[in-house]
Amino acid sequence: MEIRRNKVVALDYTLKDDAGNVVDKSGKTPLYYLHGYSNIIVGLEEALEGRSAGDTFEISLPPEKGYGTRDPKLISSLPISRLPEGTKPMKGQKYNVQVGNQMRQVTITKVRVTDVEIDANHALVDKTLHFAVKVRQVREATKVELEHRHAHSPGHDH
Ligand code: ZN
Repeated sequence: MEIRRNKVVALDYTLKDDAGNVVDKSGKTPLYYLHGYSNIIVGLEEALEGRSAGDTFEISLPPEKGYGTRDPKLISSLPISRLPEGTKPMKGQKYNVQVGNQMRQVTITKVRVTDVEIDANHALVDKTLHFAVKVRQVREATKVELEHRHAHSPGHDH
């Protein structure tokens, strides 16, 4: 069965940066996603189109096909009092903080006297992504998966 819109795909992947460091990989269970709904990054979804179970491939994606380029609007400041209690802010630390009405992971990029500069861009913006992928399984999506617009991996179907 070929990967097309409305198929659920299970895959193993390893993601490396330009220096060859592994920055992300699937675990013991593969990653399940619903094809055609932008549930995974656009360049990877395009590269998977038409593949079948058992296929392996490598692909390098520029930032525009990956996590995008840095958005200056996602850089802001936060009073130190709003960081988790008892923490001493340092450059490079990551926190989950409330931004607007959602929780986001942010990285501290500057520490000042009463506030810190935080960057809510994804850690992999501006990066070329090097994926090694193995397609484990391709199946039809269930009616519920199509309604939810995402895959339900085994044992995780809420
Ligand atoms: Zn669901």
